[in-house]
Amino acid sequence: MTKPIIVQKFGGSSVANIDRIKAVAQRVLETKTKKNNIVVVVSALGDTTDELEELAMKLTPQPPEREMDMLMSTGEQISCALLAIAIKALGHEAISFTGGQVGIRTDKSHTKAQIETIDAQRIRQALSENKIVIVAGFQGINSDNDITTLGRGGSDLTAVALAITLGAKVCEIFTDVKGIYTADPRIVEDAQKIQNISYDEMLEMASLGAQVMQARSIEVAKRFNIPIHVRSSFAKEEGTMITQNSSKLEQISVSGITSNKKEAKVTICAVPDKPGVAAHIFTEISKVGVSVDTIVQNVSHTRHTDISFTVPRSDLNKTLKAAEQIAQKLHAREVLQDNKIARVSIVGSEMRSRHGIAAQMFQTLAENKINIEMITTSEISISCIIHEKNTDKAVKALHKIFSLKD
Ligand code: ADP
Ligand code: ASP
Ligand code: MG
Repeated sequence: MTKPIIVQKFGGSSVANIDRIKAVAQRVLETKTKKNNIVVVVSALGDTTDELEELAMKLTPQPPEREMDMLMSTGEQISCALLAIAIKALGHEAISFTGGQVGIRTDKSHTKAQIETIDAQRIRQALSENKIVIVAGFQGINSDNDITTLGRGGSDLTAVALAITLGAKVCEIFTDVKGIYTADPRIVEDAQKIQNISYDEMLEMASLGAQVMQARSIEVAKRFNIPIHVRSSFAKEEGTMITQNSSKLEQISVSGITSNKKEAKVTICAVPDKPGVAAHIFTEISKVGVSVDTIVQNVSHTRHTDISFTVPRSDLNKTLKAAEQIAQKLHAREVLQDNKIARVSIVGSEMRSRHGIAAQMFQTLAENKINIEMITTSEISISCIIHEKNTDKAVKALHKIFSLKD
């Protein structure tokens, strides 16, 4: 009979230095028994990925994406080799692999590649030899045998995808907080740890800025129904289970508050108000590979209207270039930009059945003298775009008003 497999992922802060790598090696060995197999996925040490990105930016503001993948993937190669060395130094069998070596095949889109297949042959072979397998997160290889990366936070996706491929019972995500909280504990001191959260709520929180999990990894976990256990690498206690149903005893309307300072707003002023204009604008923007988020088009009284939309801040330059060309072609007026915005959101799957939640959110922001620039809603969330300087104040006030306690 094959032994059950446990997949454990350790984030950057958990492997930030040699002492922490030694502690992770101990922790992995505490989980390993004769009756199970362990596959470990690691992120790069501490802030290595940011530091590598900064190095390239010193050479040019828009480094070629293929070369960025070559560069950024090296961070995880260092941590997986060091962890394997640490485990072997404690007298146990371990082997490290890159994403390519374990057959993580992706499409050709550099810096945010999609996983297509995983053969995991070398993992199975190494496990059958009773070795602890350590895999470099965040990376794969494409059909040209070029290294690709899976988007920031992509080691979460590596872990979830391997857990699915290997038929693991659970995917454990070890990080520097004790689980998923009702708000980022770095912003809200009395944020509460959530015991269970549904894939849908976690996906919404991650998409709206809760960086504790990569949104795509939750999407994949949901599709294959693999439970995720988010927990601390510094404490033994249970963390948060992410599963299909959150099994809360009492249905609370708002489960979490998130914020995101990684967007920018672009406004094309005085575009003609006629059929096909929005289609033209957003087709051209999508052609330069930018995904647009919130869009606001005002009612026109003069046959011209302003169109505002948000894009990832890292794509602002690309977007402005395209927007200038669009404005010229449509005989619109100027293009404005604002990269000092933030999105604050409330998330909760029970929100759809409650009245007055949106009003309460807007009222709270008003009482704190925070101006709302844009509003969007989904079935299970409401987001407001505000000035970046008000982010923490807004998150704290919303957390208090919706009294987010377990
Ligand atoms: P890792 O290096 O382990 O991948 P990350 O920095 O990516 O860790 O994610 C962990 C961080 O996410 C925490 O330190 C915390 O500040 C932040 N975070 C944001 N929102 C939340 C939330 N709702 N619950 C828990 N942590 C959150
Ligand atoms: N090291 C990569 C990043 O910082 C991937 C990860 O940590 O998940 O985005
Ligand atoms: Mg992370």
